[in-house]
Amino acid sequence: MKKIKNSSPHMSPDEFKIAGYSVIDWLAEHLREIENSPIKSQVAPGEIKAKLPKYPPKVGEAFGKILLDLDDVVMPGLVNWQHPNFFGYFPANSSPPAILGDLLSSGLGVQGMLWSTGPAITEIETQMLDWLVHLCGLPKKFLSTEAGGGVIQDSASSSTLCAILAARERVGGIPELTSMAAYISDQAHSSVEKDLLIAGIPENRICKIPTNERNEMDCIALKNTINENLQIGIKPFIIVATVGTTSTGAIDNVERIAGIAKKFNTWTHVDAAWAGSATVCPEHRNIIRGTDQVDSYVFNPHKWLLTNFDCSVLYVADSRPLNRALSITPEYLKNKDSDSGKVIDYKDWQIPLGRRFRSLKLWFVIRSYGSDGLRSYIRGHVDAAKWLENMLNDSGELALAAPRSLSLICFHHTAGNKATENLLKFLNESKLFFLTHTYIKGRYMIRVSIGGTYTRKDHLERLWKKIQEYLRGNANQ
Ligand code: PLP
Repeated sequence: MKKIKNSSPHMSPDEFKIAGYSVIDWLAEHLREIENSPIKSQVAPGEIKAKLPKYPPKVGEAFGKILLDLDDVVMPGLVNWQHPNFFGYFPANSSPPAILGDLLSSGLGVQGMLWSTGPAITEIETQMLDWLVHLCGLPKKFLSTEAGGGVIQDSASSSTLCAILAARERVGGIPELTSMAAYISDQAHSSVEKDLLIAGIPENRICKIPTNERNEMDCIALKNTINENLQIGIKPFIIVATVGTTSTGAIDNVERIAGIAKKFNTWTHVDAAWAGSATVCPEHRNIIRGTDQVDSYVFNPHKWLLTNFDCSVLYVADSRPLNRALSITPEYLKNKDSDSGKVIDYKDWQIPLGRRFRSLKLWFVIRSYGSDGLRSYIRGHVDAAKWLENMLNDSGELALAAPRSLSLICFHHTAGNKATENLLKFLNESKLFFLTHTYIKGRYMIRVSIGGTYTRKDHLERLWKKIQEYLRGNANQ
């Protein structure tokens, strides 16, 4: 790229245009070739760092030269999360409208900590969270017009931490915790435990309730444990239900859990980080039955709703304890709009002060795809998972290791853990697919997490072919 003469230390608008177009061109080609690019990084630890100069440059470099290093330095060191054969962990969706929304958010360089520091940032966010209530069939009490409302956070980890801090506030703050316990299932995400520890709940007061054969929280065990603890003076302070556990996608019975929580006057939080996106489809709303009785709910559009990381949405039924827990307004942030009580200052709904214009990408995604587009996107993945489930059920040597949950399949080799491990190794070493595993209750299982932006049924057909190749190869040995 030709360097245009410019005495300012910054790019001129024309230089920015040329550099910006080259980045979009680069990304467009990357997306065009996404399926043909390597899925897994092949570098050894330290290899990428060793390619970088030891010290920063003294004189600024041309942008074209910097961009070249994307291919030479960065790309070999990436796992291609957007590859349609990426079936690991949970998806981290990215889509063109979200990319552009994020770019604009950065380009505008605005800050939405207070309503007054960017009214549009706050009001578009509020409206997007209301849209999601309608789109996902969430309880009306989460609407901004009610006592509660929603907020965009960076991650489910942060969202759950905020919910825990609100619950702590509601019971009277830190001093009360000495006689209280939190209840989660033994399949809850590690972030929930981490959040509880951060909030000051000691490890021995985090009660991990056993799960049933479907890996869902055992509600009888929950009730019994709460009662046993009450007898020794330990009151329940929060119960966290998981809708879509990370290992197998198990769906806790929110309705029953919320019913138990109500009896003990306890906060219920629902972690639906991955599975929550599926509720854009009315036929999947059974997974959140009972949410009308919970105190807080989180799901991540950045997992399975085409919205680039980061975008996690937290809803609370009553925003007051959350705001009491997180609101401090020093003199330098005081302003007449906040004082008027007519505006939302999202700084009071999160841990950091500053906040990006995250709702822009969500707005772009929802408008670009529409509810129909989002629903058919989710349905495509669930249908592909059902197809794979049928294949596995008809296979003699392989079997589901847990019930299919939406678009997540966990399976194993009937010959045992070692055989399952070997199959996973074979699939990943083919460099055609990326899969991860889990291990619960003595069983090693392969997870096929279907949810990539560009993943279609034919990608699953190719995976199945590869699995059969392995099984045939083993049979011939
Ligand atoms: N909760 C569940 C059920 C998850 O599956 C995950 C991540 O996969 C998380 C929480 C953490 O999400 P985040 O990375 O947004 O903190």
